[in-house]
Amino acid sequence: MKILVINSGSSSIKYRLFSMPEEQVIAKGLLEKIGEEISFFSQKSAKGNFETRKKIPDHEAGITFILSTLTDKDQGVVGSVDEIKGVGHRVVHGGEEFTSSVIITTEVISKIQQYADLAPLHNPPNLMGIFACKKFLPSATQVAVFDTAFHQSLPPVAYLYAIPYDFYKKYEIRKYGFHGTSHLYVTKRAGALLATSDPTVITCHLGNGCSITAVEKGASVDTSMGLTPLEGLVMGTRCGDIDPAIIFHLVSKGYSPEELNTVFNKKSGLFGISGISNDMRNLFEAREKGDERAKIAIEIFCYRLKKYIGAYLAVLGATDAVVFTGGIGENNATIRFESLKGMERLGVIIDEGRNKRAAPGQETLVSADNSPTKVFVIPTNEELQIALDTFAIARN
Ligand code: ADP
Repeated sequence: MKILVINSGSSSIKYRLFSMPEEQVIAKGLLEKIGEEISFFSQKSAKGNFETRKKIPDHEAGITFILSTLTDKDQGVVGSVDEIKGVGHRVVHGGEEFTSSVIITTEVISKIQQYADLAPLHNPPNLMGIFACKKFLPSATQVAVFDTAFHQSLPPVAYLYAIPYDFYKKYEIRKYGFHGTSHLYVTKRAGALLATSDPTVITCHLGNGCSITAVEKGASVDTSMGLTPLEGLVMGTRCGDIDPAIIFHLVSKGYSPEELNTVFNKKSGLFGISGISNDMRNLFEAREKGDERAKIAIEIFCYRLKKYIGAYLAVLGATDAVVFTGGIGENNATIRFESLKGMERLGVIIDEGRNKRAAPGQETLVSADNSPTKVFVIPTNEELQIALDTFAIARN
């Protein structure tokens, strides 16, 4: 069965076409700068790499172009769009409504619209992808896969903020958590490596956005992102945890709430501290050359991560494994080492040699043989998780 996975952002659409159950990627592509003068398109498949530039005014035109490329006589990989039996859509916010992936019905669409209030930058473009696919692939099963769903198992003690309870009841203000598809995927892979279906693990997703999750017997019980993806770890451009009074103080200095929203989301984190870049590779280069702010940015990143790992070790008690994933988690041995260093008596002993030798793109054990808690590097694959969920639903 052919399953198309769609990740529709404000000005881009990423897609992957899978053949299931073989989990084989037949084609993957990216359309960027939708709505601008010139949009960029690229696709990789057995037919080779195809790149082109043309004006794509909106998401509907974007999906049309993607489908025509997938069926094109030169670049195409399927004879007709009718071969695509299921479409899995990444949806960022599913609120308290969705605990797992669901078929997209009119009610589901209105719920996604409702939660756009909590995710104004994400849910509306996710919906544009859904509408376009429903229009052009009317007989395919359309499935929504929510970033928040895996974290719906959080208990109230983890998801309630210590603010007036009415805010939760009236405005649904609580911790939702994000990156759920990634945390779920690496949890399942860790389970496979540990030979258990319900592992107790701490999963660290460290990409541009970063989050960490405490998973008890296969269920998320705490996670670092909150009402929005701003809370928690230090990220590329997001500040993570800060004292909320900083906002009031800066408002009194003349900043508007909108300006501060931009500062904390787009100009903080690694970029804000270093003043150089949000990209960890650039910070390592700068640190090599003696840049003090790059050095402290990296240290703060690791320190915050270590604090959360320690907190989640306490939350879970006995933990089977700590898992690193995402661009930084998978590729940066120094970050893994620095954030686990000194935790030997907490039961986490990283093996320096194994950690350094971990090859990109491979699932690797990097803890020492005498470490009570294992440490794994596991490449994430959110698209595959979306395809698996969509296939399971479309098959029935
Ligand atoms: P996104 O969250 O946008 O998907 P990624 O998961 O690709 O981002 O993570 C981006 C981060 O991962 C950047 O800070 C980058 O420096 C780091 N990264 C990606 N690839 C590598 C690599 N091969 N070596 C070291 N760091 C990497």
